[in-house]
Amino acid sequence: MSKKQFKAESKRLLDLMINSIYTNKEIFLRELISNASDALDKRYYGSMTQKKENIDKSNLKIKISIDKDNKTLTIEDNGCGMSKEELENNLGTIAKSGSLAFKQAQEKQEDVDIIGQFGVGFYSCFMVSNEVSVISKSLDNDAYIWNSKGVDGYTIEPTQKDEIGTKIILKIKEDTEDEKYSRYLETYTIKNLVKKYSDYIHYPIIMDVEHEKLKEGTKNEYEKITETETLNSMVPLWKKKKSEITQEEYDSFYTSKFSDFSKPQKVIHTQAEGTFSYNALLFIPSHLPYDFYTKQYEKGLQLYSNGVLIMEKCEELLPDYFSFVKGLVDSPDLSLNISREMLQHDRQLKTLAKNIEKKINSELTKMLNNERDEYIKLFNNFGTQLKYGAYDNYGIDKDKLKDLLMFYSSNDKKLTTLKEYVERMKDDQKEIYYACGETLDKIDMLPQVEKVKEKGYEILYLTENIDEFVIHSLANYNDKKFTNICTNELDLDSEEEKEKLKKENEENKEMLDTMKTALNNEVQLVRFTHRLKNHPVCLTSEGAISLEMEKVINAMPTDQNIKAQKVLEINEDHPIANKLKELYIEDKEKLKDYSKILYSQARLIEGMSVENPTEISNLICDIMAK
Ligand code: ADP
Repeated sequence: MSKKQFKAESKRLLDLMINSIYTNKEIFLRELISNASDALDKRYYGSMTQKKENIDKSNLKIKISIDKDNKTLTIEDNGCGMSKEELENNLGTIAKSGSLAFKQAQEKQEDVDIIGQFGVGFYSCFMVSNEVSVISKSLDNDAYIWNSKGVDGYTIEPTQKDEIGTKIILKIKEDTEDEKYSRYLETYTIKNLVKKYSDYIHYPIIMDVEHEKLKEGTKNEYEKITETETLNSMVPLWKKKKSEITQEEYDSFYTSKFSDFSKPQKVIHTQAEGTFSYNALLFIPSHLPYDFYTKQYEKGLQLYSNGVLIMEKCEELLPDYFSFVKGLVDSPDLSLNISREMLQHDRQLKTLAKNIEKKINSELTKMLNNERDEYIKLFNNFGTQLKYGAYDNYGIDKDKLKDLLMFYSSNDKKLTTLKEYVERMKDDQKEIYYACGETLDKIDMLPQVEKVKEKGYEILYLTENIDEFVIHSLANYNDKKFTNICTNELDLDSEEEKEKLKKENEENKEMLDTMKTALNNEVQLVRFTHRLKNHPVCLTSEGAISLEMEKVINAMPTDQNIKAQKVLEINEDHPIANKLKELYIEDKEKLKDYSKILYSQARLIEGMSVENPTEISNLICDIMAK
């Protein structure tokens, strides 16, 4: 009999399981039962769609048995079973769903955490057993037995099994000082574990239980009899009355069903009755799923028809911007035989999706209004997704989402909603101001910010790449236009001041043009400004592309070379203004050098690089040496 080796990653996971110091070893039973339940779902669903066999649902079950003499615990199901290839592929490598998380956790060396992190699945049984046999038979295939004593590999051989399904035999480890493995051979323990983790499994989990019973016709003679008991209540959690479900039940349902190691941040449970009844149990994770920004991540909700799973991930039920929501929907009004194609055009499903979206939206709004700290936590995890939703598809959903968005602002550098910003606006303030930059501190130090703050106006500080795109998509909020204070849209001057500035710029036009030419027309314009308070220069932009957008777009891995139309602005009230005017008359060459230095300064302040640093450095040193 030839022994096969586990794939490297699986081997390491296995090793981890065998030598696990994880305190929660008991979850192995939950994992095996869930796998069995999935297999029963698959068999039943397969029979409905492929019609190769006729299955009476009431015959599908999971059976647990204990053999104390041989120290084995057996979990058996009459689900879909596995062919030889499936045994090889499914049990020889760790589940695909887990492998990425495993790799990442491995890199961080968080061994113990891994076990809790992703369902861990089948291999978890090696935490409590030193030998595992899986006997399986699937439709139209012969039966095989997979056997492994751990890391040194596994064998697969033909065997005899009449019924379709899978039987997993665990040889339970010997007790140690730290761990009493023999408890897994006690009926009492198994009963409790099933109740705790698998009560909602909608197939009976049965076990033969020994009872002492009064012998008939006697008063004090007892006899041992064996009865088959169903250990789980089988009512899916979501079908129980809401008032009878504890938070703990919700939490453990979520962690076991959606392979998350931490409790959900929020549970949303709606039981809607009416022309179209449905039951939706939704969860918002308390952290970003490890694969959220990878291609592997698939949004969607599980879809049940009256307690029977019909689709693992129904993506039509969630808009992209709520893709972080996990959960399930159960409706007795959906047909079991519905196909994916049919679903896409299903009117009921569309109504369902709309209702779910509305529900999530209103729950988030409630959270924002009543539990702000919680909402901020959620927004820190998933805010980018909401922002993306407001921008995606030409902003078609922006009105639904605009009040769920938060941005940082000059008001204590805290997150604010647009509604709150507008409520705080001063009477004479007509527009919503914003500025973009890499960090809050960098924005706070932008020369343009000082003057606007001095007037007592609040400024939104946009630090995320997507922020400005969102603002552009929104265009305005409650009729208040968004204005980037780093563009010439900013208009804070009185008519008189404007007139003065206009004159100043006209009178010095030739000088300003000379400066522009000195900059090789890198900028569209050089002009005097009132925008600045103490700082000498700043860079602003005109037109649709802002400086921040130039940075963001050019950082993308495409060949677009997009340039903002830049304007170099010089503080009219700064002593440098007069110096420039003097130079224009006395030393035009020096004026050119000054222009280059000022432009470089402005670029640096904006967080842009200087294209000719050596030249600029030399120019500054020349001036310093004089
Ligand atoms: P996961 O359940 O996350 O995919 P597991 O390691 O628990 O990972 O299981 C790997 C695969 O083995 C499952 O996806 C399933 O295809 C198969 N499998 C496990 N247990 C059974 C079972 N009792 N019956 C049929 N297939 C099973």
